[in-house]
Amino acid sequence: MKASEVLDNLKRRFPNEPEYHQAVSEVLGTIEEVYNEHPEFEKSNLIERLCIPDRIFSFRVTWMDDKGQIQTNMGYRIQHNNAIGPYKGGIRFHASVNLSILKFLAFEQTFKNSLTTLPMGGGKGGSDFSPRGKSNAEIMRFCQAFVMELWRHIGPDTDVPAGDIGVGGREVAYMYGMYKKLARENTGTFTGKGLEFGGSLIRPEATGYGNVYFLLQMLKTRGIDIKGKVVTVSGSGNVAQYTVEKLITLGAKVVTMSDSDGYIYDPDGIDREKLDYIMELKNLYRGRIREYAEQYGVKYVPGARPWGEKCDIAMPSATQNEINGDDARALLANGCFAVSEGANMPSTPEAIEEFLKAKILYAPGKAANAGGVSVSGLEMTQNAQKLSWSAEEVDEKLKSIMANIHEQCVKYGTQPDGYVNYVKGANVAGFMKVARAMMAQGIL
Ligand code: NDP
Repeated sequence: MKASEVLDNLKRRFPNEPEYHQAVSEVLGTIEEVYNEHPEFEKSNLIERLCIPDRIFSFRVTWMDDKGQIQTNMGYRIQHNNAIGPYKGGIRFHASVNLSILKFLAFEQTFKNSLTTLPMGGGKGGSDFSPRGKSNAEIMRFCQAFVMELWRHIGPDTDVPAGDIGVGGREVAYMYGMYKKLARENTGTFTGKGLEFGGSLIRPEATGYGNVYFLLQMLKTRGIDIKGKVVTVSGSGNVAQYTVEKLITLGAKVVTMSDSDGYIYDPDGIDREKLDYIMELKNLYRGRIREYAEQYGVKYVPGARPWGEKCDIAMPSATQNEINGDDARALLANGCFAVSEGANMPSTPEAIEEFLKAKILYAPGKAANAGGVSVSGLEMTQNAQKLSWSAEEVDEKLKSIMANIHEQCVKYGTQPDGYVNYVKGANVAGFMKVARAMMAQGIL
């Protein structure tokens, strides 16, 4: 089957999964050229095998809320592709979670993990459980109930979950605790664990730091210094917080952060002290970003995203499809010359087209946010060796992995006019490695 036919076929067989179709379409649109150079891929129907997950588990999760009422949610684990290593990818808890979203994330994860150079396949999981407004006890009971079903499908050499939206250190710890009780082993079958029980230094920081390291590589290609540049960031969770931390350290000025209710605009820039306030607000009190505006007397815009604010660089770090065509045009009109994605697939196809047409520096999430899963891979290595590395050691490895991903994007994405199309570069580099591994291992 031709690459172009695969998408129509998937749409027919798996209707009502728009995010999944979107992610597949973006990749297929960029790999056609290399695909056509390898007739053996078509003969073995490689693209279709790469697009459809190896298997999907779905299950009911039953738990008791604080009022004593019995609640149910759906739980899922997608094991997408393990050609280059055990399935690896985060768990998302959010009311919007469904098969389409998890299939897009697992598909993307497969290419991202391939780019990291570490031996990890792609997977993703989650639940439509919303942690918002839940007590700590309810979170614990839900995590335990979720793992009671999930545990039999995962293991240190088969499938290693981690965090994602709504799943941070607290949730990973509750899930890992229950997993150990059921599996009766202590081999680290989750990453993003606490430091006291097998976690890696720099894992919480890794996605945000890694995105900034990737941005620095892109800026270097045009001789631009990050110092003094105005940056808009969306989100105020794990990825956003450490993106902002690294940007502040490097002398950039971050003027926005957001949550699902709205965004704050701080014209003086978010400094270290203000970031500490946000970290406490979000990680401890589980408050809303609006409270930052009240605390520091700055603008709060409810129900909106920050892309209309003037900036040099934008770093979307909240969720999928948070930059549409109009947002992209607004960013470009305001002089934005770089977009580096902390979130997964935050830009719609129309927005991506605008960025590429304008030839700005544009890094897709599967390259720019690969730092998180990279340090997860390093956490797995430390667990297997039963030792732990220093923060400096992990940070150095992270920097070198991000530089390597950048290099691969330049290698496969440089156009005849010299413009680096990072979308194409990341997709082709990620694809070729998985494709070769699948070809070598036969028809499975
Ligand atoms: P968190 O749950 O820590 O934070 C998510 C942030 O985004 C919160 O501020 C949240 O606001 C906001 N948000 C979530 N959903 C929406 C929505 N539908 N509309 C507007 N805002 C929303 O998640 P992470 O920081 O871990 O993840 C952020 C992004 O980064 C995701 O796309 C994730 O897939 C990606 N990513 C994460 C990695 C990691 O290591 N954690 C690795 C690679 C990618 P609110 O609190 O109101 O919900």
